Amino acid sequence: TNRTFTMIKPDAVENGHIGAIIEKIQTAGFKIVAMKYTQLSEADAKAFYEVHKERPFYGELVAFMSRGPIVAAVLEKDNAVEDFRTLIGATNPEEAAEGTIRKLFATSLSENAVHGSDSDENAAIESNFHFSGREIY
Ligand code: ATP
Repeated sequence: TNRTFTMIKPDAVENGHIGAIIEKIQTAGFKIVAMKYTQLSEADAKAFYEVHKERPFYGELVAFMSRGPIVAAVLEKDNAVEDFRTLIGATNPEEAAEGTIRKLFATSLSENAVHGSDSDENAAIESNFHFSGREIY
């Protein structure tokens, strides 16, 4: 479909990058159809990242994602999922292309500034995790 879900992660919020990241997203042609400043509880983070629960970094990821505020948003554009993952760059900022959001703003592999859904199906699941139908325009 034409929508994806993103979070500006706690590291980028702590480092004052919310405005710059939203600017990059809009300049790349994404329309914001839902957005909120919020914080994940530990239980929320565990549930959101349940697919990673057998991975060695799961505990670290849950602690990181729940340690401070985030910005959650639903974005609209043709080819949204794939184009947004191109815009954010590789998971590891050291491997991310020049000009990508992670290259510019991420701290490390684990604290990598932004999330982007990896499929249309997950975009819908993740959007519904954070937003009710009335909050998406
Ligand atoms: P995201 O799902 O956040 O968009 P991604 O799809 O690029 O990221 P995944 O492999 O799904 O990456 O990992 C989810 C998140 O877990 C990463 O964004 C990163 O914050 C963290 N992570 C991934 N690999 C590691 C690792 N080896 N050590 C620590 N944290 C990691």
